[in-house]
Amino acid sequence: LEYAPVHLKELFDSIFEMLQPAATKKSIVMLQNIPEHLFIEGDEDRLKQIFMNLLSNAISYTLEGGKVRVDVEVLGEAEEEEKVRVTVSDTGIGIPKKDLPRIFERFYRVDKARSRSSGGTGLGLSIVKHLSELHRGTLRVESKVGEGSSFILELPFMQQHEDEH
Ligand code: ATP
Ligand code: MG
Repeated sequence: LEYAPVHLKELFDSIFEMLQPAATKKSIVMLQNIPEHLFIEGDEDRLKQIFMNLLSNAISYTLEGGKVRVDVEVLGEAEEEEKVRVTVSDTGIGIPKKDLPRIFERFYRVDKARSRSSGGTGLGLSIVKHLSELHRGTLRVESKVGEGSSFILELPFMQQHEDEH
């Protein structure tokens, strides 16, 4: 990985620009609540891949007229390492409880008939999980069928570099 400071607001602006046509087609509104001037250390291309996957899922698995949003907040108590929490949430179809433990597996798709129309391969979330781990992040999901889903990724501000003696 190639670590450099990544400006989160700019990263999401460029992702939103790329996904806007897909959202507009389904009359889905995309919202963002991201602090200005917030940088984290990471591999920009990989971070982009993480959030492109989460946001394109959010659009794919949300019906016409729904909402997709990104919220970024800074976490960190006195002794803890400072982190950012990025939440990608939607008002979509949701994920059944029995499928939640498996959605990060390679090729796993909920209800193949239902998701066939979106034409995916079931790899997106396994890649997201892998790339999150490379950034020492933790990823979890909360979802309710018929209400929507939230994917919550917590990332440390700084990555760990090899010692340069
Ligand atoms: P692709 O490889 O093109 O991303 P995919 O979207 O089917 O294909 P994943 O992104 O790994 O694969 O997602 C796995 C499955 O989890 C999806 O098929 C879908 O059933 C479910 N899923 C993922 N994100 C959401 C979401 N935001 N709302 C509802 N279901 C979701
Ligand atoms: Mg996907």
